[in-house]
Amino acid sequence: MSRSRGSYYSALKRITRVVNSALSLRKICNYIAKNTARAMQVNGCRILSLNARKEYLITVGTYGLSDLYLKKGPLDARKSLPDILEGKIVFIADATKDERIQHPQIAQTQGIASILGVPVLGKGEAIGEIRVYTREPRKFSEADKSFLLSVANICAVVFERAELHQLLEQDYKTQTREKRRKSSQVSALLNTHLRPTTFAHPSEEDFAKLLDFYCIEWLYEPRSFPLKWEGDKIVEMFTPDFYLPELDVYIELTTLKQNLLTEKNRKLRQIRQLYPEVNVKLITKNDFAKLLAKYGYGPLGEAKVEGVDRVLYSHAQIQRRIRTLSRHISRDYAGQRLVLIGILKGVVCFMADLMQNLSIPVTVDLMAISYYGGDGQVVKITRDLDSSITGQHVLMVEDIVDTGMTLNYILGHLSAHNPASLRVCTLLDKRARRLVNVPLDYVGFEVPDEFVVGYGLDYKGEYRNLPFIGILHPELIKDDELQ
Ligand code: 5GP
Repeated sequence: MSRSRGSYYSALKRITRVVNSALSLRKICNYIAKNTARAMQVNGCRILSLNARKEYLITVGTYGLSDLYLKKGPLDARKSLPDILEGKIVFIADATKDERIQHPQIAQTQGIASILGVPVLGKGEAIGEIRVYTREPRKFSEADKSFLLSVANICAVVFERAELHQLLEQDYKTQTREKRRKSSQVSALLNTHLRPTTFAHPSEEDFAKLLDFYCIEWLYEPRSFPLKWEGDKIVEMFTPDFYLPELDVYIELTTLKQNLLTEKNRKLRQIRQLYPEVNVKLITKNDFAKLLAKYGYGPLGEAKVEGVDRVLYSHAQIQRRIRTLSRHISRDYAGQRLVLIGILKGVVCFMADLMQNLSIPVTVDLMAISYYGGDGQVVKITRDLDSSITGQHVLMVEDIVDTGMTLNYILGHLSAHNPASLRVCTLLDKRARRLVNVPLDYVGFEVPDEFVVGYGLDYKGEYRNLPFIGILHPELIKDDELQ
């Protein structure tokens, strides 16, 4: 297929128009990726930015690539097609066989054949890359390469402007809120160390693995927040352990003795006061152990359970709440058909009762996924939908939303199929532990930060058949192990 100069010219015209708009960096880069892919008649395009220490490449714009391929996390700049960062144009004829490809198995499962990559150069130095991908093997012409290089030049300007904007914005906020701070200090603190080779603490590595499993991009200690000054000198700073760019949240993981928590909490309060736009969450040692125990890992993973300690919601209470939820759903979808989608196995009781109470026509589909196993895998859909949901109204039915990572992943997967609408109904919402802010349209009960079982929910495969929802015996939480 020939790609005319005309189509390249109009793509460049569209791109330059958007570059000058007030859209965010991510939106501009997604737009550039889409127009580049369409003009070149390729299946996907990815725009990557190199971190300041030139260690990692982070995706800042994409088009046409699946989540799995994209969210493999930042790419190691030394391993992933390093020639591009040396200023060369790289062409891969067959990505599944070429040893220059870092994840050939993913390229294979995603059906990627050829790749063309060019550097994004700022003042003669590589600051990023653009890569385009095709499903069928393809050769690229000189005109293709020259078009992609022109797009790369535009990206260089976008990157530099975004960086400047970030510094100026930071500078402005700093000046108005705390006159003593100097812009030079602020810019020096915008350090970007990504993916460390070693973590300060093993629990940080565990947490990074968990994020990797859910394909959530993370940066390690990317920014330090000054908290206290003496004259112009910063005398106290706080560096949260993680930043999750897509969720715009900083995470501080504290596995310290609980008495040191007070000090951490004080710092967090200060951050929230000085930087109200910054979203920081604290995960304590206790929270983290509970999180891992959910998957049978960590200090609590092997704990023996005596049985159910107390009933949280009786069978009758659950049924009453489901009738109310069903009424709301039937009213909201009146005159429409609805596809209910659930994830096995926890949702079976709730799904069965909910659908029997709905007064609108529904179809039901079930998915199954692999859960975190600490083995370096990412979420795997082990049973996908039976029927297409494109153009359908979809209601995702969940048993419980805890951190929100599972639901976030599944919603990404479902929305890629372009349903007419996509909403969520969950029986239980454990809001206290939310990491990813997923929208919940219908909620049965908000539950406390405790491990619940029954009515479909299990602990190591058991307790699903209980007709009520209960909290496990506190034996599970051996507090002395956590101090
Ligand atoms: P998330 O990804 O939101 O952290 O976790 C969602 C999944 O974790 C749920 O679908 C459920 O399988 C499991 N989960 C989270 N909290 C609990 C709980 O308190 N009890 C049980 N049995 N499973 C839970």
